[in-house]
Amino acid sequence: MGLLALGTPLNWEDSIPFIEKVKTNGITQLLNILEKADQIKDKPYLWGDELEYLLIDAKNNKISVDNDDILTILNTEFEKECKDNDLVYHPEYGRYMIEATPYFPYNTTSDLKSYLEPELNMVKRKKFLDDKLLKKRGLCLLEMPNYPRLGSKNFLYDYDYNGNDFVNEQNKNIFSQSLFLPDEITNRHPRFPTLTANIRKRRNRKVNLQIPMYKDEFTPKFDDTVYDRKWFDMDVEFVKDDAEAIEKHFNAKSENPLKTYKLEEQHIYIDAMGFGMGACCLQTTYQAPDMDSARYLYDSLANFTSILLALSAGSPFWKGYVSDWDTRWEVVSASVDSRLSYEENNHTHDNSKGYNVSCDDKGTLVDIPLKKVAKSRYSKIDLFLGSSRTSKDLSEVNDVEVVINEKVFDRVNKALNGDENLAKHFAHLFIRDPIVIFEENVDEVDGEMDHFENINSTNWQSLRFKVPHKISSGSEPEPGFRVEFRPLEIQLSDFENAAFAFILNLIVQFILNPDNNINFYIPMSKVWANFDIASERNSLLKNKFEWITKLKAFNDSTHIASETTPMTADQIMHNPESGIISCIVNAQLKTLNFIKKSETWEDLKSYDDESKTRAYYYIKLLSDRSKGILPTDASWQREYVMSHPSYKKDSRVTEEINFDLINLVKNIHCYSPKTKDEENWLYKLFGEELGQYLVNHKL
Ligand code: ADP
Ligand code: MG
Ligand code: MG
Ligand code: MG
Repeated sequence: MGLLALGTPLNWEDSIPFIEKVKTNGITQLLNILEKADQIKDKPYLWGDELEYLLIDAKNNKISVDNDDILTILNTEFEKECKDNDLVYHPEYGRYMIEATPYFPYNTTSDLKSYLEPELNMVKRKKFLDDKLLKKRGLCLLEMPNYPRLGSKNFLYDYDYNGNDFVNEQNKNIFSQSLFLPDEITNRHPRFPTLTANIRKRRNRKVNLQIPMYKDEFTPKFDDTVYDRKWFDMDVEFVKDDAEAIEKHFNAKSENPLKTYKLEEQHIYIDAMGFGMGACCLQTTYQAPDMDSARYLYDSLANFTSILLALSAGSPFWKGYVSDWDTRWEVVSASVDSRLSYEENNHTHDNSKGYNVSCDDKGTLVDIPLKKVAKSRYSKIDLFLGSSRTSKDLSEVNDVEVVINEKVFDRVNKALNGDENLAKHFAHLFIRDPIVIFEENVDEVDGEMDHFENINSTNWQSLRFKVPHKISSGSEPEPGFRVEFRPLEIQLSDFENAAFAFILNLIVQFILNPDNNINFYIPMSKVWANFDIASERNSLLKNKFEWITKLKAFNDSTHIASETTPMTADQIMHNPESGIISCIVNAQLKTLNFIKKSETWEDLKSYDDESKTRAYYYIKLLSDRSKGILPTDASWQREYVMSHPSYKKDSRVTEEINFDLINLVKNIHCYSPKTKDEENWLYKLFGEELGQYLVNHKL
């Protein structure tokens, strides 16, 4: 989570006069850095991970929202101890969420032992928190992307979505207007409820996502949790998507059909930001030596996002239903989509009301025509940035239609002497409005990056190009240009999280090694097509993804785009000409002298060396998943729920099943199954060999 500014966040209505001003000031801040970008050079390779946890009551396995004071305690009373232990804890959107990172980024050495540091740090993050605060309070942390019954009956205390526990019926959930998620799940810092309300107001309607249910024998026809409550003035009314219900509705009322949402058959209705932003991920950030290599790294990582998202899939359940999706991605995307329905090109809702952005940077009301915008501000990336390795004309690979803010483009392009590709990137990010503005500092520009970050860090894309906030070179401590890899779902155990971080660390080092100089460019339309299928149920084994046929260094060809072939996950990981493990990981292990030139990653196991053995298992986990030998966390959770003795083939994760699943996850994430049955589930997740290794080699 980015900066938490102090001050008073403005309501959407009150922020309108400042929107253009914030954008203008944000670009001034950006240019203050970019105009001196060539001074930022020779930065060392540093990287770090972020894990987001769910805080739950260890006894009843429900979400805990009354213990967010622990974040304050960690960052005051325990601040020094955290730093001494190389730990930092951050707030997140959910009041039940905690994010944690190492205090100091990792500086990988040539010693393989240092590659285990991330997992050791992850283990310490949980243990420190457990020992200092959680055990005493009867709480524990879960590494699970999504709480399966979030927004369902009794997911929180005795929260009953019928509203029976509410003393006052009116004025509930005023920020989100959710029928399911009480505002109490949102972080108390005023930025978060304001963000929730302002996105709803910017889009002029509530969040509306309908996730397909997994279709089982007795799956209900409709999401039966949806009906009008008297908690607030409803934006919309619901009509079930069958002819009879629609006819009845329109006969009974003379409502404007644009004020009606159709409930689709066998879909789960999601109506609030918390469903998406309340889900947890694993992110990793890498520092490149300078801006040029950071641009090349960003571009090269583009097509890794979808396959790694599919490999990390871990969120099959939403609002107490089994869904037909395996990841959180599309849910988050819809939950923070701030587009008006006109911009979305979806005419289900009346645009004539509400607040459109219509002030210039002096705050004077003007007409700014709206444009159609292809996707939510939380989505896959849009544009390659280009670098000294590419020609200036990237039209062959930047082949998707991307709306830009012309004013920003002209300004950045001019200031950067015609660097059109970079100008286009920022001009696209700046089509979005700042959602939360703090009035106090709108006019402060110098020496800060807050207005720039207000837009940049609320463009939640699959990769983020992180711009330094200060000019520095070499080993000066200020961060330089960094690239963040953002699609991964958090895994159920630290071992799995560390495995993803380990592989990505090798991939990034391989990309940044100038001796390799590989051309990873493929058309953005293919990157998008891959990303769009990555979240489907069982996508990893069901789908083929476009992947570069053969890894080649840049050459003099006039074509930038490399040839691709539709490949299975197994082929993408193991094919001899472009496989992630067979080519990239193997090559990097050799470059680092962790294996001999004649060896492959599998030989790591033949050494009598604990670090090499663990590294072997990191790779093996992802290798076996891609072959379907081991399940993704999503498939494993599905199997557990659907084989639970009380599952009624009705696509429902009941309170009982949810409780049992979370008990199991609590014991598996420390590799300590308590019963024979739990032991079986541990071996289903990791396989016999790796499972036994983990049970016998706890860090
Ligand atoms: P955000 O939420 O904006 O991504 P965080 O501070 O939560 O930011 O996480 C930043 C991540 O970047 C952490 O994993 C941290 O260890 C890592 N990091 C910090 N400094 C650097 C650096 N100079 N280079 C690379 N990574 C860094
Ligand atoms: Mg976060
Ligand atoms: Mg963070
Ligand atoms: Mg991050």
